[in-house]
Amino acid sequence: MVERLREHYGIHDPKVLEAMRNVPRHFFVTEALRGRAYDDNALPINFNQTISQPFIVARMTELLELNKQSRVLEIGAGSGYQTAILAQLASQVYAIERIGELAREAHDRIRVLGIYNATVKAFDGTLGWSAYGPYDAILVAAGGPRIPDPLVAQLKVGGRLVIPIGATRESQKLVRVIKTEHKPKIEEHGSCQFVPLIGQHGWEKQ
Ligand code: SAH
Repeated sequence: MVERLREHYGIHDPKVLEAMRNVPRHFFVTEALRGRAYDDNALPINFNQTISQPFIVARMTELLELNKQSRVLEIGAGSGYQTAILAQLASQVYAIERIGELAREAHDRIRVLGIYNATVKAFDGTLGWSAYGPYDAILVAAGGPRIPDPLVAQLKVGGRLVIPIGATRESQKLVRVIKTEHKPKIEEHGSCQFVPLIGQHGWEKQ
């Protein structure tokens, strides 16, 4: 999997590749899918959600430009896989998942792996988590209709927000927002497909 990330997808950051090597992806999927855990695609988890494709996890992580001092907010913890990756590279990870049972399971999994610098709570992540902000980096692993204002507000100046944004629920562009003293800088980093970001600053629940 790591070989493919480097050779085929051009992921070059050695620390990101190392984190992808260290975290056992099979531990985050159901037993029936264990044999496919290192394939090149997203996989289903409970409640109709997905664990993202390894490439997209690596790409989003790379775009956050983390170091061991970084405080990170993650929205859409799902299985907890991305949370575990971020925890390898940052000082502290605050993860939010709107589905209570997924949040509890994700939290248990990362603890079983011996990861103590990350925590997962259940609520609407489009509101951010102001108690621990401002953050050096924010990763949103679900696709929204626009950039949620509270997330930009909770970013440090110079901080990076990576989020899939799309006009429909079905497909998105990967967007990176870099906060500056003035207008945030907005970059596009290719197409992607995520499950919808549902919440006050996301899509309405169907
Ligand atoms: N990064 C995850 C992939 C999660 S899929 C992994 O590695 O497994 C996206 C997740 O976002 C889903 O679990 C969904 O329930 C969650 N989600 C959607 N809207 C949300 C919101 N407003 N706040 C928090 N989580 C949300």
